[in-house]
Amino acid sequence: MSIEKLNTWVDVPEGSDFTIYNLPFGIYSVAKGERRAGIAIGEQIIDLSYLQENGMLDGLDLSDGIFQREVLNDFISCGKQTWTNLRMRLHELLEESNETLKDHADKAFVDQADAKMHMPVQVGDYTDFYSSEEHATNVGIMFRGKDNALMPNWKHIPVGYHGRASSIIVSGEPFHRPQGQILPKDAEKPVFGPTKLLDIELEMAFITGAASKLGQTIPTEQAEDFIFGMVLFNDWSARDIQKWEYVPLGPFLGKSFASSISPWIVTLDALEYFKVDGPKQNPEVLPYLKFEGKKSYDINLEVFLKPQNGEEEKISTSNHKFLYWNIAQQLAHQTVNGCNINAGDMYGSGTISGKEPDSYGSLLELTWAGNNPIKLKDGSERKFLLDHDTIVIRGHCEKDEIRIGFGEVKTEILPAKI
Ligand code: CA
Repeated sequence: MSIEKLNTWVDVPEGSDFTIYNLPFGIYSVAKGERRAGIAIGEQIIDLSYLQENGMLDGLDLSDGIFQREVLNDFISCGKQTWTNLRMRLHELLEESNETLKDHADKAFVDQADAKMHMPVQVGDYTDFYSSEEHATNVGIMFRGKDNALMPNWKHIPVGYHGRASSIIVSGEPFHRPQGQILPKDAEKPVFGPTKLLDIELEMAFITGAASKLGQTIPTEQAEDFIFGMVLFNDWSARDIQKWEYVPLGPFLGKSFASSISPWIVTLDALEYFKVDGPKQNPEVLPYLKFEGKKSYDINLEVFLKPQNGEEEKISTSNHKFLYWNIAQQLAHQTVNGCNINAGDMYGSGTISGKEPDSYGSLLELTWAGNNPIKLKDGSERKFLLDHDTIVIRGHCEKDEIRIGFGEVKTEILPAKI
């Protein structure tokens, strides 16, 4: 796919994630003001309600006040044609020779440095997939040995479970180390206390924009019409709580205490140019999981750890394109039984690990269950995370000098509330 070259009158610094090719949506507030919808460009935010009130979005069939709500759900419920039409209008307004918005720039723009970002959507339901073959294999080797690493269903089903939506938080919001039941080594009875094995999961999540009806299935060729965009996703995990509780019904309190997202939703329209072929799927999948064309995304992902009073250090480099199951297959699978979806629902990819040890997406894998601790520049080691560690995930796409990115999801771990 080719891309039309665009130039804008807005000052976008070299290397910015928020170029004119991106235009991600978020919810922000300034000082004690109300929450409203904005678009990131360069180091600024475009106030969409200002554009609407001043007639710059006329003809797009948007209801009054739609960008002054606390979340984007009402806007994204309008459907793909509306998202795409708004994107085209913004491209016109931001184009180098267009003076319309430029004349209003002092009122229509806010510096990102002055804004506080909030949850962009109200998440009704959250699904967590398990779609990285490398991650599933690594965890399988650690838990069951090399010969039974991948379960027999794994290459036939985009494995997933229903997670907890209420504890999804936005970048910048810290959380307390969770407590729960843990079975100490060689013990027969569990104890209660703070997790000792607090871990990250490097993931991305897609957000559905359009709703489906109960009983309706969404085939892979229609899936992209239902997906609004993607965010970075850190699916925090307490491995000791998880290990004791997960049989027979799967993850529960070891996962549900927090999942962190980046505040800017990058649309599938913006990501279209960065599509690539995914891993070859063998054995052949069932007909409802077959797809045509490129459905994977070349999104570079990086994880950084910052100790208290220390410097940020990179601990992993991965890529969304490593995922065995793509987002169209995930949504087709989610709905194949007739399960309906809603605008604002979130779907985590599962931990995204690559083949190389420095591309693993969890500390469980990076330290191989704590056997190979990570050595940090301040001389300390990490098997799992300590209180006041901060984890930052960043992601961006780059091709032929065109760059778009997700910004970051940054979260500090606070001590357990005892
Ligand atoms: Ca997960």
